[in-house]
Amino acid sequence: MNWITNYVRPRINSIFSRREVPENLWSKCDGCGTMLFHREISDNLNVCTNCGHHMHITPRDRFLALFDGGVFTEVAVPEPLADPLHFRDQKRYPDRMKAAQKATGEREAMLVAAGEIGRTPIVAAAQDFSFMAGSMGMYVGNAIIAAAQEAVKLGRPLVLFSAAGGARMQEGILSLMQMPRTTVAVQMLREAGLPYIVVLTHPTTGGVTASYAMLGDVQIAEPNALICFAGPRVIEQTIREKLPEGFQRAEYLLEHGMLDRVTDRRKMREELIVITRMLMKMPPATWGDLPAPGPDDLKPAAEPNAALDDSAE
Ligand SMILES: [Zn+2]
Repeated sequence: MNWITNYVRPRINSIFSRREVPENLWSKCDGCGTMLFHREISDNLNVCTNCGHHMHITPRDRFLALFDGGVFTEVAVPEPLADPLHFRDQKRYPDRMKAAQKATGEREAMLVAAGEIGRTPIVAAAQDFSFMAGSMGMYVGNAIIAAAQEAVKLGRPLVLFSAAGGARMQEGILSLMQMPRTTVAVQMLREAGLPYIVVLTHPTTGGVTASYAMLGDVQIAEPNALICFAGPRVIEQTIREKLPEGFQRAEYLLEHGMLDRVTDRRKMREELIVITRMLMKMPPATWGDLPAPGPDDLKPAAEPNAALDDSAE
C-alpha cells in the first residue's frame, strides 16, 4: 500500500519477533502472551498456567497422559492407496505427505490405540492437526473403521479426539467418501451397544463435523475450541452480518445445546473414566483404580484450580 506497511512494519516485526523468543526453552502462549517454560507447558498438558489457553497437543502426548502409566498398544490401520489422483498444487501430494511425516514423526493424521484409563479398558483414536491440518482422507477413514472394529471385537467403548481443517482436498471425492464410511463405523458401535464418546478439540471443522465428530453418545469439547462446518469468516462474508462474540466456540455451542460438556484438558482423563464406567455399567473408580498417568512423571498438575480461578476473571 505504502512504504510504512510494506517496508517499515515488516522491519519492526522482524526485529521484535527475533527478540521475543530468546532461546527455545521458552514458548509464548497464544492466548495471553506469557512466556512459559517448556517443562511447565508439558507438565500441564500444553495448557497455559496463566490464562488456561489450550495449545496444540500431539495424539501421542495425549495418549501418554491419558492411559494408565502411559501404556497403550497401537491398533494397526490398513494402508490406503497412495495418491490415487496424482494430485499436484504447488507441491506434489506425496511430497507434502513426506514433509508432514518428517515434521510430526507420525505415519498419518490419526493415531489409534487400545489401553486402560483408570482400569477401564477403552479404544481411543486421536486426530493430529499438525499433520496436514488433520485433514480427513482415506487413511483417517480407515483408522476410524479400525478403531470401531477393535472396540467391537474387544467389547470396549471408543473415545475419539477430533481436530481437523476438513476433508483432504488432495484425495478429492475419495476424502468425501470417508463421511458415510465413518458414519457406518459409528453405527457398528451402536449396534454392538458400545458407547462412542467424542472429545472435540481446537479446531474441528469441515466435513469432519458433518460425520463422525458430531455422532457421539456424549459430546465433550475442550475450552474455546472452534467447532464448525463453515468457518466464521466464510459465514460473515456470505450473510454480510457481524456474528455474535464467541460464535462457534465450545462455550457458545454448549449454551445452544450442541454439546454436553466443556472440559479442561487437565480434568479430561478423570471425566472420561467416570463417563465410560457409567456407560459400561461398571462400579465407580476408586483411588486404586486411578494409577498416575505417564511413565516419565506426567503427574496430575498440582495447581490447575488456581490457574482456572485466574482465568475466570
Ligand atoms: Zn496464556
